[in-house]
Amino acid sequence: MSRGLLLVVSGPSGAGKGTICKEILAKRPDLQLSVSATTRKPREGEVDGKSYFFLQEETFRNMIEQGEFIEWASFCQNYYGTPKKAVEEQLKAGHDVILEIEVQGAMQVRSKFPEAVFIFVLPPSIEELKNRIIGRGTEAMHVIEERMERAKKEFEQIDKYNYILLNDTVEAATERLSAIIDAEKLRIERNEETIKQFVNNK
Ligand code: ADP
Ligand code: 5GP
Repeated sequence: MSRGLLLVVSGPSGAGKGTICKEILAKRPDLQLSVSATTRKPREGEVDGKSYFFLQEETFRNMIEQGEFIEWASFCQNYYGTPKKAVEEQLKAGHDVILEIEVQGAMQVRSKFPEAVFIFVLPPSIEELKNRIIGRGTEAMHVIEERMERAKKEFEQIDKYNYILLNDTVEAATERLSAIIDAEKLRIERNEETIKQFVNNK
């Protein structure tokens, strides 16, 4: 069985990463979403073990020391990280896995998994990005300002990604993401087994 595809959906806070990932998972049951760990407090409606693993800082630090994360980052006063074990198991079992993570973490994944697919979610404009974070109603104004400052730095890393994914409407963005996944799965280097039967010297 061939190894699953690792998809990194990244970009600034409020661009719509979570919304698009939720949509694509509903449309494509073949995909798995990695559940991250964080020291952030749960928002209303978030479920431990499903939205995130909500951890105390000490537990998170222990996991860093034990090498239990593929990547981790400090983002606007909280830690976020991708637990290694679940992702490795899913990829090994041939499942395609999505990491929905911020830019520093994506850059760490890039150095460890250069074969992964890196997608940067773009809002239609900076103004709309701010409107969306404000509209989500989950952060205090000073946190929103901090995340907007952070966004400026994050845009500078866009050339390290393979694709931009404009999130104008959720529907169009989800369709584009689905098209990216389909195309990536058809790359020659991901289909060596299929090709082998047609080419003698492979
Ligand atoms: P992120 O996960 O990147 O931080 P979210 O998915 O939480 O962003 O989206 C931020 C806010 O913008 C949410 O309130 C969400 O409902 C809204 N939103 C997401 N995509 C769109 C869109 N295409 N058009 C309008 N609002 C959107
Ligand atoms: P939020 O607090 O809005 O849920 O997340 C803040 C930022 O952290 C978002 O950009 C989100 O994508 C990112 N994030 C979520 N999980 C992880 C993770 O495991 N690692 C990293 N590096 N970032 C993450």
